[in-house]
Amino acid sequence: MVLLERKRLTSGTTWHAAGLITQARPTFGTREIVRRSLRVFQTLPEETGFATGFERTGTLHLADGAARLEELLRQASAARANGITAELVSAEQAAELFPPLYPGDLAGAVYYPDDGRGNATDTTMALAAGARQLGVRILENTKVTKVIRRDGRVAGVTTEHGDVEAEYVVAAPGMWGREFGALAGVAIPLQALAHYYVITEAIPGLPPACRRSRRPRTTRT
Ligand SMILES: Cc1cc2nc3c(=O)[nH]c(=O)nc-3n(C[C@H](O)[C@H](O)[C@H](O)COP(=O)(O)OP(=O)(O)OC[C@H]3O[C@@H](n4cnc5c(N)ncnc54)[C@H](O)[C@@H]3O)c2cc1C
Repeated sequence: MVLLERKRLTSGTTWHAAGLITQARPTFGTREIVRRSLRVFQTLPEETGFATGFERTGTLHLADGAARLEELLRQASAARANGITAELVSAEQAAELFPPLYPGDLAGAVYYPDDGRGNATDTTMALAAGARQLGVRILENTKVTKVIRRDGRVAGVTTEHGDVEAEYVVAAPGMWGREFGALAGVAIPLQALAHYYVITEAIPGLPPACRRSRRPRTTRT
């Protein structure tokens, strides 16, 4: 198995990711990816010797009104179908979990205790180390310039440094998906959008991560 990377590993959007790992996703499949990834992130450092920075902090999803709370409860109910723990907490319980919150502004919240955060770059390097241990070759600075097709199916790719024959080609080029699809004559309707986060100086009273050893009494819906 060969992994081809145009530049360096993590040079795509992964380099920018804040590293929040939350299972509150809109579809069964995307929730399942995160649920299984959480399991992998916990064992990866031991298996590869590379730290991922994973920390189980839990995440709180806040509702500022009844309509938003109903939406969050529906999302939580769908998450439970994946076997994900999602708990309704009152505004006061949310503030207990995350003291800087002002509960007076909230209608309630949903708490995912198994969520966490990690370092996207370190996690990628640990995954790459694990893949190499299993025999995967990772070729960086190797851009795919063409998809080779034979008898109506994909037969490999052309790179800047030569051809690679392959029975299967998995395209995972992120926001370059549209351009990559065009190499195979496939129109992939993908549009990259700006995505922001803010890094501040330390804010007095706001801890870098709020973890509680004591879990609040929660209400199941
Ligand atoms: C500011 C920001 C914050 C984010 N925060 C979070 C967060 O907290 N939690 C979260 O879950 N997600 C977050 N995301 C989203 C997350 O970063 C992406 O979903 C994730 O990085 C996508 O990974 P990927 O491997 O699919 O794509 P990428 O990391 O973009 O990898 C695609 C790779 O394909 C390579 N490539 C492209 N074309 C070719 C070619 N022709 N030949 C060879 N290689 C090629 C690129 O060089 C690139 O390295 C954030 C995104 C941004 C921008």
